[in-house]
Amino acid sequence: MKPAAFKYHRPASLDEALALLDQLGPQARLLSGGQSLGPMLNLRLARPEHVIDLNDLTEFAYVRESGDAVEVGGLTRHYQLADSVYVRQHCPLLTQAAMTIGHYAIRQRGTLGGSLANADPVAQLALVAVALDARITLARQGSRREIAANDFFQAAMTTALKPQELLLSVRFPKFKTGEVSAYRMFNRRHGDFAVVAVAATLAVEDGQVQRLRLALSGIAPVPQRVDSVTRQFEGRRPDAQWAMDVAAAVAEAVQPEEDERVSASYRRELAHSLSLSTLTRTLEKLEGVGA
Ligand SMILES: Cc1cc2nc3c(=O)[nH]c(=O)nc-3n(C[C@H](O)[C@H](O)[C@H](O)COP(=O)(O)OP(=O)(O)OC[C@H]3O[C@@H](n4cnc5c(N)ncnc54)[C@H](O)[C@@H]3O)c2cc1C
Repeated sequence: MKPAAFKYHRPASLDEALALLDQLGPQARLLSGGQSLGPMLNLRLARPEHVIDLNDLTEFAYVRESGDAVEVGGLTRHYQLADSVYVRQHCPLLTQAAMTIGHYAIRQRGTLGGSLANADPVAQLALVAVALDARITLARQGSRREIAANDFFQAAMTTALKPQELLLSVRFPKFKTGEVSAYRMFNRRHGDFAVVAVAATLAVEDGQVQRLRLALSGIAPVPQRVDSVTRQFEGRRPDAQWAMDVAAAVAEAVQPEEDERVSASYRRELAHSLSLSTLTRTLEKLEGVGA
């Protein structure tokens, strides 16, 4: 099937893109990697009158230091995140998650901005953004605003983006020295979206857990952090028993949603086994196993 007719715009600068958005607002859709919008157009699930292609704004494909954060431009492709030595050094969870997205071709084209704006409930980068309390910068003509990832994702495929705004960049807090992380997902076939996924980071000081962050996707319409659970397990010695206790507490705390494909109890079981395997991996990394 072919898309319904639309007017194609290819702005050469951010100012031009924002001016177009301001003028065309709700009748326009932004095009970044096209990996989600392309199929939606072809299936006529989206029928915008205008498509604004951002691919000439190459200055927004970047990874750079920004104080205590790793700042990533909205047009940065998934493979650039997965390959960046700087990201691996300062925000390894982003590397671990980005390298598992879809297939090679999708990682070559798909972008951070497109993925977050699309807000698939189990998208890897949305999960990482929530797990790490990332700050997202949105721009519209004449103004910019910053929003916490937690507030950005409002429901499945729904975000706080306004029709005149585009997602400009994301600031992911840098890891503490020695902090480790892992990402685990369960999917039915290689390259598919996850059914459930877990991301965790672990910082240890003087042999005790100083900070544990754990977030899940595939449990609710948006990624969820389980701070009320993880807080109880800080200040303890991180070992195999600790990991089993955290995983059991996570599985008890979550309230998975059921759909026609996957039962709530199966999602809970996945929350348990993936939490355990994610935490076990962080413990291995603390010990320098396959770091
Ligand atoms: C077969 C297949 C498998 C996939 N598997 C996975 C997977 O396992 N995990 C995963 O996370 N993703 C997966 N994806 C999706 C992929 O990661 C997409 O690249 C991503 O969801 C959208 O990014 P994009 O740059 O292609 O955005 P586009 O398709 O260009 O746009 C997606 C949406 O975001 C809007 N948009 C784009 N850029 C911006 C911006 N800068 N500001 C505001 N709005 C913007 C568009 O208007 C559109 O509504 C898969 C896709 C396919 C086709």
